Amino acid sequence: MRERAAELAANLARVEERLKRACAAAGRDRAEVTLVVVTKTHPAEDVRLLAELGVRHVAENREQEAAPKAAACAGLPLTWHFVGQLQTNKVRSVAEFCDYVHSVDRPRLVSALSAAAVRRGRELGCLLQVALDREVGEGAAAAGRGGVAPDGVPALADAVAAAPGLALSGVMTVAPLSGPYAGNPRAAFDRLMEVSSGLRGVGGAATMVSAGMSSDLEEAVAAGATHVRVGTAVLGVRPRLG
Ligand SMILES: *Cc1c(COP(=O)(O)O)cnc(C)c1O
Repeated sequence: MRERAAELAANLARVEERLKRACAAAGRDRAEVTLVVVTKTHPAEDVRLLAELGVRHVAENREQEAAPKAAACAGLPLTWHFVGQLQTNKVRSVAEFCDYVHSVDRPRLVSALSAAAVRRGRELGCLLQVALDREVGEGAAAAGRGGVAPDGVPALADAVAAAPGLALSGVMTVAPLSGPYAGNPRAAFDRLMEVSSGLRGVGGAATMVSAGMSSDLEEAVAAGATHVRVGTAVLGVRPRLG
């Protein structure tokens, strides 16, 4: 375990260096960007080590894996983020341990999250996942990655803002593999920033912009992301598909 701690510490230092450099290049303060470490497929013991190394934000993408892991890590000073596609029958469980859901992409999920948050008696931060492989239309994005098209964002934002127990926290995206932004994460993240600006009228506090992963965190910081979600660069290659 000491070996693993050293490995995680070295990886974290490398990511921190990348973030520092990216912030400097963009003329931004390092404090403007929060590192969220995506711990999916890695054990609770890694989460514990990360907390000891100073990580304060972790993310998971599957409820079945995340719920027991969060329970095993109860008491650690961590903020939990959910970044995966979410089925409504998993919402109650997610609301138990999560502080933020980055993957809000449809009205039915908003009402389910609202009911779960009210029941739990605690506010849930919601980020709208924006699918940038298309500008208009409903339904799941290509390859079932989830997300609402940009033209659906205002209505969904209104729904979150009006829902008891939910706070409209911001927007999230994953750089698309198809469509006009494929292979150009910077342009995708710039577009996400535009979508984010459009939200300011709805919820005054919807300032979170969640973008950038291990391979494109520099582009996200350059565009203006407030939260980067980094898995592989901190924890190593995942043992299986997450
Ligand atoms: C797994 C995952 C990440 C982290 O990806 P890496 O390439 O391992 O950094 C970020 N965001 C989401 C939504 C993910 O599912």
